[in-house]
Amino acid sequence: MRCGSVWSARGCWRPAWSVWGCRGPASGRLSVVCGSIGDVRSAPTILHLDMDAFYAACEQAAKPSLRGKPVVVGGIGPRGVVATASYEARVFGIRSAMPTAQARRLCPNAAYLHPRFLLYRQVSDAVMELLRALSPLVEPLSLDEAFVDLEAGGVAAETSAVRAVGEKLRRDIREATGLTGSVGLAGAKMLAKIASEAAKPDGLVVIEPGTERELLGPMTVRTLPGVGPATAEALRRAGITTVAETAEAGEAELVRLLGKAHGAGLYAMALGQDDRPVVADRDAKSVSVEDTFEVDLTDRTRVRTELVRLADRCVHRLREAGRSGRTVVIKVRNYDFSTLTRSETLRGPTDDPGVVREAAVRLLETVDTTGGVRLLGVGVSGLADFTQEDLFAQLATEREAAETAQAAPEPAADDASEPEPEEARPRRWHPGLDVVHDEYGAGWVQGSGVGRVTVRFETPWSAPGRVRTFAVEDPALRPGEPLPLVGGPEAVQSSDPAILPKSLSAGGGDDTESVGEEISSR
Ligand SMILES: [Mg+2]
Repeated sequence: MRCGSVWSARGCWRPAWSVWGCRGPASGRLSVVCGSIGDVRSAPTILHLDMDAFYAACEQAAKPSLRGKPVVVGGIGPRGVVATASYEARVFGIRSAMPTAQARRLCPNAAYLHPRFLLYRQVSDAVMELLRALSPLVEPLSLDEAFVDLEAGGVAAETSAVRAVGEKLRRDIREATGLTGSVGLAGAKMLAKIASEAAKPDGLVVIEPGTERELLGPMTVRTLPGVGPATAEALRRAGITTVAETAEAGEAELVRLLGKAHGAGLYAMALGQDDRPVVADRDAKSVSVEDTFEVDLTDRTRVRTELVRLADRCVHRLREAGRSGRTVVIKVRNYDFSTLTRSETLRGPTDDPGVVREAAVRLLETVDTTGGVRLLGVGVSGLADFTQEDLFAQLATEREAAETAQAAPEPAADDASEPEPEEARPRRWHPGLDVVHDEYGAGWVQGSGVGRVTVRFETPWSAPGRVRTFAVEDPALRPGEPLPLVGGPEAVQSSDPAILPKSLSAGGGDDTESVGEEISSR
C-alpha cells in the first residue's frame, strides 16, 4: 500500500485513518477473494465533497466567541435532536441524531443553538456554485455534501490532475465561505464518499482505482452504504464483520442471509463495484427511502410503525436537501415479491413530517398486507426548492415546539381564541438567533428566560464580543438577519443601517447592561 503518496495529502498515519488500519498489502484473507473490479473507472474522477461539521462550523464562523468551543446545533426543545456537533463537542461523545437532552448531559457547557437555515442555505449556494464551475454533473446530497463528475467537466483522467482540482476546490471554498470541506476522489461514488470520510476534517484522500479491495478489506462492514445496525448484526451472527469477510462469504450466502436484493447489492459493494452515475440535481425529482426487512412483517401495527419511521426519515432527507414536495408515495413489496405503489398529491408542497406521515398511513390503509411485507418505502416527489416563506414557516414551527418546553411561564392571554396582534405578542428569543440593537448593533441571543434576554454583540469579522442583558420587551432590540461569514462589514447588503454599533464604548447609565454576566442558554 503506497500510503504516503496515495491515501492522503497529509500522509496516512493520521488518527482517523489508523482506526481503519493502514495495513500492509494483501492480507491472506483478501487473496482468497476472486473476481475482478468491474464498474470502477480507471482514474479517480468522481469527487465527493463533505463540509466539516457544517451547521456548527457556520455558527463558529459567525460567532467569534464560540470558535474552538463545543457547539451543538439542533432542536433545543424536549424532543429535539442534534443536527450537527462541532468537533469540540464530538470529543464528549455528542453525535448527529442524538437526543439533545442526552447531549446536554454529556456536555452541559456546550452552546446549544437553534439552526439558522437561511444562513446555511446561503453558504451552501456559494459552495455549490464552486462545484458547478468544475462540471455540469453535480449531485447535491444535502446542503453540505455533493458528488461531482470531474470527467464530465473535462478534467484529465489522471490522479495528479484530479488531486490538483480537489486541492484548489478546498482553497476556493475556504476563501469564499471561511469554512473547511473534505474531499474524496475515487473511481466510484461509494468509494469517493468513503474517501472524504477518511479525509475529515479538512483533508483530501484519493483512492486509486485498483486499490479499493485492499483498502476496503479490513474495514468494518458498517462502512458500506446500506449496512445499518440490523444488517450488521445479521452478518455478525454469521461471523462476518469486515468487508473482506463479506466478499469471501459470496453472493449466495449473502442472499441467503439478507434476501435477494440486499444480499446481491452488498456483495457488489464489498467488491468495490458501484457503477451509479453522478446525476445532476435538476434531474432529481423525488426523495425516497426504503427498508427491506430480514423477516417479513405480518403484524399490522408493526407495518404502520415502520412506515411512520420511514416517513420521518424521508422528510429528514427532504429538509437536508432544502426541498419540499407535493406528492407522497408509498411502496410495499409483499412476501411473494409483488410490489405496488400508492400515491397522494397534496394541495401544496410540504416538508412537514406530520403531513407526510398522515398521508403515508392513509395510503397504507388501501393496501392488503396480511400475507407479510418484505419491503416498505416512502417517497416525496414533485419537489420544489424552499421559498423563503417555507423556511420561515419551518423555523416558526420549530420555535413553537421549543417554546412549549420553556420553563419560564408566559402570562396567559385574556382571550385564547382570539389571535393577538403581532405587536402585542410577547417577544421570544431563541439561542443563536440574530438580533440588532439600536445602540450596540448586531449580535446573537445567548439565552433568555424570566423576562430577560442575553445578547452577545459580535460579528463574523469582530473579536469575541461582550454580553449584555435586556428586558425581553426592550424596544431597541429586534430580530436581525444572518451576516455574511466573509468579506467584513463591506459585504453586508442590508437595508438595515443599525447593524454596526453606533458606539462600541457606549453604555454608561444603562441599568440593563451587565458586562461580564453570562446567562447561559441552558
Ligand atoms: Mg458534512
